[in-house]
Amino acid sequence: MSPNAARSAELLHDARHLVVFTGSGMSQESGVPTFRDEATGLWARFDPEELAAPDAFRRHPARVFAWYLWRWRAIRDAVPHAGYRALVELETRFDRMTVVTQNVDGLHARAGSGSVIELHGSLAAFRCFDAGHPYDARHLDGLVRAGAEEIEPPRCDRCGSPIRPAVVWFGEPLPWEQLEAARAEVEACDALLVVGTAALVYPAADLAWVGVTRGIPVIEINLRPTPLSSHVALAWRAGAGAALSELASALRADLSVS
Ligand SMILES: [Zn+2]
Repeated sequence: MSPNAARSAELLHDARHLVVFTGSGMSQESGVPTFRDEATGLWARFDPEELAAPDAFRRHPARVFAWYLWRWRAIRDAVPHAGYRALVELETRFDRMTVVTQNVDGLHARAGSGSVIELHGSLAAFRCFDAGHPYDARHLDGLVRAGAEEIEPPRCDRCGSPIRPAVVWFGEPLPWEQLEAARAEVEACDALLVVGTAALVYPAADLAWVGVTRGIPVIEINLRPTPLSSHVALAWRAGAGAALSELASALRADLSVS
């Protein structure tokens, strides 16, 4: 067992309520392109900020919708890595465990995590632009065309408004309910695990600092140092998949001796 895994198990030994906060470093290893490097191939000439915004959708609905259908397909092909399965295993170790994620790929839920708060929405869900009426994504299969740069969004059955992805776009606030639920979890938990996020973008980044300020054990798993690193109980420099797998087995060993 690595010193980091052993130290993590020690820090989590008495915890009953764990919150795991995840960002793009979590999904990268599953073959999900991150926001910054995903504009490859067909979409390379577009700036993501010009596609992921309400104004962009108003001006070019078919282009924005085609981009999201492409991303929707890419995510369906992605396979949650071992770190996701390790988090599902961790749930059995704590009385309460919640995953709070900045990712929109839906991989935590797909891997089987029971309690997931998606702060930026989900690429797997769609709703209408004007009223937010939910839309059944199964109807979208027939619309996907490989290489298409324009796909007209379908219309809402209830109000006729065009269908958009249920993600948070530039210039849009985070969903208040999810943010409040996440904050309540971090304010009540015994320990916090911060995985693959630089904790830079507010208000979500604030959540990690709530844990630090409360003085609970905060463990950071990240390939690179972040502004949080010097304030946490343990800054573990590793990829999410490897570190979380190691952590799960360290906790398994911890359980068998206690
Ligand atoms: Zn509608």
